[in-house]
Amino acid sequence: MANHGSNGSSDDLTFPLEIPPAKIRFTKLFIGGEFVDSVSGKTFETIDPRTGETIARVSEGDKEDIDLAVGAARRAFDHGPWPRLPGAARAKIMHKFADLIDQHIEELATLDTLNAGKLFSWGKAVDIPSVANTLRYFAGAADKIHGQVLKMSRELHAYTLLEPIGVVGLIIPWNFPSTMFFVKVSPALAAGCTMVVKPAEQTPLSALFYAHLAKEAGIPDGVINVVSGYGPTAGAALTSHMNVDKVSFTGSTEVGRKVMQAAAASNLKTVSLELGGKSPLLIFDDADIDQAADLALLGVMHNKGEVCVAGSRVLVQEAIYDEFVKTLVEKAKEWVVGDPFHPNSRVGPQVRINVDKKQYEKVMSYIEHGKREGATLLTGGKPAAKKGYYIEPTVFTDVTDDMMIVKDEIFGPVMVLMKFKTMEDGIRAANNTRYGLAAGIVTKSLDTANTVSRSIRAGVIWINCYFAFDNDCPFGGYKSSGFGRDEGMVGLQKYLQVKSVVTPLYNSPWQ
Ligand code: NAD
Repeated sequence: MANHGSNGSSDDLTFPLEIPPAKIRFTKLFIGGEFVDSVSGKTFETIDPRTGETIARVSEGDKEDIDLAVGAARRAFDHGPWPRLPGAARAKIMHKFADLIDQHIEELATLDTLNAGKLFSWGKAVDIPSVANTLRYFAGAADKIHGQVLKMSRELHAYTLLEPIGVVGLIIPWNFPSTMFFVKVSPALAAGCTMVVKPAEQTPLSALFYAHLAKEAGIPDGVINVVSGYGPTAGAALTSHMNVDKVSFTGSTEVGRKVMQAAAASNLKTVSLELGGKSPLLIFDDADIDQAADLALLGVMHNKGEVCVAGSRVLVQEAIYDEFVKTLVEKAKEWVVGDPFHPNSRVGPQVRINVDKKQYEKVMSYIEHGKREGATLLTGGKPAAKKGYYIEPTVFTDVTDDMMIVKDEIFGPVMVLMKFKTMEDGIRAANNTRYGLAAGIVTKSLDTANTVSRSIRAGVIWINCYFAFDNDCPFGGYKSSGFGRDEGMVGLQKYLQVKSVVTPLYNSPWQ
């Protein structure tokens, strides 16, 4: 058992509920370097998806609070030190911020588990240490931002300057509250931007904690502002604000469309969109079946399927299909549903808020749809506990292209399994989606891997692996999965503005 103490109530879960000491220190908006109540004084509940119980009330930001936060960010950009500091000085403070995160790993991982039902062990070992490294990666770039000398005519000398784009609005989803915060905040900081972050209404707690650490690290007031609140109010106010120069959005395709519309209808701010997916994993008949089944389950069960790049469509070549199915069903049992604080749990509860958007009901209704549409349920398909929002790892087969479970992003632990004949059939099936975020290929053939990776229209292709991320590896979508890239040096570019400077050149001896 983990060392959090236990209330012993299991409600059908393999591992009983363990209640960690709930230490929720920050629940107010962070504006201009201070924690403040919302203008309206309103708060909203934040819920523990393991139990459905309220764990804290958090200030509910709205248009007026976004106005104040954008005002603070504007002043910090137009008159404050941050954009004017040498890159190395910004980097030094970012490194301090990263070190402070390292000192609070356990507390931060606890908040994301309490708020999002994420596995505590994973948060502690992977998510939180990784976000500190994301800060360090972009800190390393802060003093290497420069333009180019341009090749002009003999009479002109010209160069480009890379300037911070200005005040940025960063809107993030709930499935990776810490990771999403830092894939946006870190490059924006390195570039010299100031920002207003709108965390998802389901998971505001770690974002507010990061605001506190930013202040402690010495990031000047107004550079990072965090306004918790709902999307249609606080989020929409940020995307339509006339004083915001750019919005970087991660979330659903449906809301991404609204973000673009708001940007177009306001000040034509630039927008980048990291959206949903329905990613394919192609398993060829030369694959190691054990490895392929492990990757297929990891691809869709990790983080209880609440992953934008989830490999939720698994395409298996026909010669190995039957054997693959047997192995997969056997291995699915290893994906044990349980309290995310327990070290042996592999699937936690679906995230939860108290208003209309209920992730658990959405996933269960897709499962019911799949059954009604005639798909065969190979395993799972039921709630996994009486209490909380747990769902069994679920695999459907005998599906057709027109079924909702094949077309739509379910964002839960639900896999659809399909068979293909030739490589061309597999590529066609893989590309038969409106999305294009990621894809996986399992094969021993280099030729197959090369052809398929170049044929699939998606932003990330994993060959004989899945979820292999790194700060240096750009990440983003094709088609309705959005545009623009997070991570990598290309992820820094979107927070920079290019200015060309041209001056006459007299009597140059050289071209
Ligand atoms: P969502 O689009 O409902 O919400 C995302 C964020 O947008 C939240 O902060 C929300 O409050 C805000 N929002 C909602 N309505 C808004 C509006 N009208 N104007 C401005 N902001 C608004 O998505 P979600 O349910 O929180 O997250 C799940 C989705 O995110 C999935 O589709 C998933 O694939 C996607 N996602 C994509 C990536 C990626 O990198 N491509 C990563 C994680 C999640």
